[in-house]
Amino acid sequence: MPFAAASPVAHLRACASLLLLALTAAPVVAQDAPAPVVRVITGANVVNLEGGPHVRDAVVVITGERITAVGPAGQVAIPANAQRLALPGKWLMPGLMNMHTHFGLKLPGATGAALANETDFALSLRMLDNAKKSLWSGTTTVRTPGEQRDAIFALKNSIDRGEHPGPRIFPAGRAIVPTGGHSSEPVFDGIDGADEARHEARRQILLGAKWIKIMISRGIASTGNIAASDMTLEEMRAVTDVAHRQGVKVAAHTGSPQATLEALEAGVDSFEHGYFLTEDVFRKMKEKGAWYVPTIVVSQAGAQEFFRKIGSPPFYLARVQMVGRSHWAALQAAIRTGVNVAMGSDQFPYEPNEGTVASVREIELYHEAGMTPLQALRTATVNTARMLGAEQDLGAVAPGRYADLIALDRDPTQDIRALRTISVVMKGGEIVRHDAEPSLVTLNVLN
Ligand SMILES: [Zn+2]
Repeated sequence: MPFAAASPVAHLRACASLLLLALTAAPVVAQDAPAPVVRVITGANVVNLEGGPHVRDAVVVITGERITAVGPAGQVAIPANAQRLALPGKWLMPGLMNMHTHFGLKLPGATGAALANETDFALSLRMLDNAKKSLWSGTTTVRTPGEQRDAIFALKNSIDRGEHPGPRIFPAGRAIVPTGGHSSEPVFDGIDGADEARHEARRQILLGAKWIKIMISRGIASTGNIAASDMTLEEMRAVTDVAHRQGVKVAAHTGSPQATLEALEAGVDSFEHGYFLTEDVFRKMKEKGAWYVPTIVVSQAGAQEFFRKIGSPPFYLARVQMVGRSHWAALQAAIRTGVNVAMGSDQFPYEPNEGTVASVREIELYHEAGMTPLQALRTATVNTARMLGAEQDLGAVAPGRYADLIALDRDPTQDIRALRTISVVMKGGEIVRHDAEPSLVTLNVLN
């Protein structure tokens, strides 16, 4: 396809000349740029996610998008021009990072059926709505492993340009599925063989994917044996090879121990769901430094409520129930082995779930399955930043990091349920939610 091959090159050339233009223009822009807004949060306690003492009555200085100083009151200078945000008695921690959500999620059932003829434009707008609600609920960063029709890249770019509020997005494009593999609809036209796997991975990377998602086994939303291994080792290797050359990581949907062991051999970086994974498999994942993203909320009690709400068919509800027990056992086995765990819900981060939202319930369930509150909190902050390779930017309330913050009423290291009391959300220094003082919101998300 010479024509198709030529157009990306032409595009890159156009980008290169734009870059030159930007570099030449830079000094003029810098002179005219307004000084960044300085905000200072006072009166709150900063949660220590390293297990040490919390910073009580802290001063957090934010210059533009990033935190520039953190320390106890009296020890940190408050710049004269700073806008003050007093949060007396609140507990501050990084915004939640959800590593498995799909803003265009469409599942079997009545709600999914109503979206059967959804156009590209309608899909983009629905995804934007889900992104905004997620940010408002306290999830400030997401990874989106698998979305339809490339809309996620447009959404991410629009949020990054400041056109719309939403979480920071680390996108995978469309999931790579072998013919007949896991999807909520039959896949007649998936990939077959290493060349097609490489082609699809390269296409996603060109579009802007930071992760590649592959479907190595079946799941709850598909039919067939979840424990079987659907992709060949050769196909998985083709994807990891192409991705890793570009610094892109690979996430695998899996329920199957066999598929997971093969994918580990192929160098896959993160494993999603893991419905039937055993302690032995998690030990091997740990040895390789791979990540486990449990998405435990999709198979537990709160999910039944959700699936009934969206009108799921009986086969689906039965499948959820069947998987629930082994999924829970897998999570407990993972915690015992100490494999890297990163939080992901596979529901919208804001989706109501057992009296709270999915991101929060997911973290609570890790605690109920055996993690300490601190370990559970790290799965959505410190660990996620490390999994994304974004430790310099995210996952801590510390100088240099983006000011992506949430404020709680209580100390979450003492009581994980404190996460249910999120009342202030900040992203990049902008106040997106302040329940007690809505007039202080500087980035209006909900209208
Ligand atoms: Zn998913």
